[in-house]
Amino acid sequence: MKIIVLKFGGSSVGTIERIKKIAGIIVGYKKKGYKPIVVSSAMSGNTNDLVKKSKAISYNFISSEYDVLVSAGEQISCALISGRLNHLGHKSQSWMSWQIPILTKGMYSASRIININKKKILDYIKLGGVPIIAGFQGINTNNRITTLGRGGSDASAIMCAKFFKAQKCIIYTDVDGVYTTDPNTLKKAKKIKIISYEEMLEMASLGAKVMQPTSIQDARLNRIDIEVKSSFVKKDGTKITKRKNVISNKIIRGISFTKNDAKVTLVGVKDKPGIAASIFEPLSKNAINVDMVVQNISADGKETDLTFTIKSEDLTKTQLLIKKNNKISFRNLIFDKNVSKVSIVGVGMIATPGVTYRMFKALAKKNINILVISTSEIKISVLINKKNISRAISALHKEFKLDK
Ligand code: ASP
Ligand code: MG
Repeated sequence: MKIIVLKFGGSSVGTIERIKKIAGIIVGYKKKGYKPIVVSSAMSGNTNDLVKKSKAISYNFISSEYDVLVSAGEQISCALISGRLNHLGHKSQSWMSWQIPILTKGMYSASRIININKKKILDYIKLGGVPIIAGFQGINTNNRITTLGRGGSDASAIMCAKFFKAQKCIIYTDVDGVYTTDPNTLKKAKKIKIISYEEMLEMASLGAKVMQPTSIQDARLNRIDIEVKSSFVKKDGTKITKRKNVISNKIIRGISFTKNDAKVTLVGVKDKPGIAASIFEPLSKNAINVDMVVQNISADGKETDLTFTIKSEDLTKTQLLIKKNNKISFRNLIFDKNVSKVSIVGVGMIATPGVTYRMFKALAKKNINILVISTSEIKISVLINKKNISRAISALHKEFKLDK
């Protein structure tokens, strides 16, 4: 059977008009001989509304009921899609996760799919029906509703592709693919035709909000090829696949950046074992995510400076935690909210020497000062002043020939 998983994001089912439009897309695949399995998110804004309601009821809404509540939007969108397909003369039925069931494990609001019972869905497909499956939700071993984290209907689609052995998995969204960098920041940004899971993960977790990062991890582990495309315009999208399939002469695939980072520097920290741990322990206990860290080698063996970055929304809390931490002493504390992390991403850098140098030189030529540097196998990140973001991106885009 030529099974195809079609996933529609919130904006693709955001209005009645759009639902009518995507029903047409589904019918199109059916006419081409595919057996579509549709996975849908909630109509855009619905999940946020439900989250708001939970907060209005309780600042500490019980997690098991929270998942029952926030997963409710998908029931509406699935029924509407199915209703439209029936209207068009196509047999279709909605399925909530508990009706299949889709089994998950892990905590409420952050569960992962471990099994999907295929029988009922496959029987239905064989009868010519189009199943519309609620994304984002599952059940646990206690038969309670769970959710997969915000944006989790991507993961639902990937896991459906895996369990139903789909030939294709298409993620329909409101952008027409993954770009070399944010097109709103750089007009010259180009759509990436094909990208590896690893690169996409780096781009996604760095801020290219096209797909939920955990879902890309699921796709990588299960070798599911994905195509991301727009449900609004008919254009080729971006393919996400294994490294081996990505044939390209580009060293760097894309440039991502953050807009809400803050830099914290502790000047004159005592240089002794355990000091870094003492600084970060209270931060980690308060779920503050520390990103880049640099510590200088102390010249006199007594004192050093330590700099790290966090999300700017965590700055006030971090300030407090450091000030009341009596396990550490330092001479001065400096904060900077006007920083941004710019990263170049590409598997090509593994085998190509001199990429770091080219990045630094391109920035130097534009007189852009680098505050902090960090690298991984396929990514080099620099922290710069926020006001330099677009000039930095433009310089790097050109240096690594992404303009072409
Ligand atoms: N409706 C859910 C959310 O808004 C799931 C999704 O959109 O993928 O997070
Ligand atoms: Mg979404």
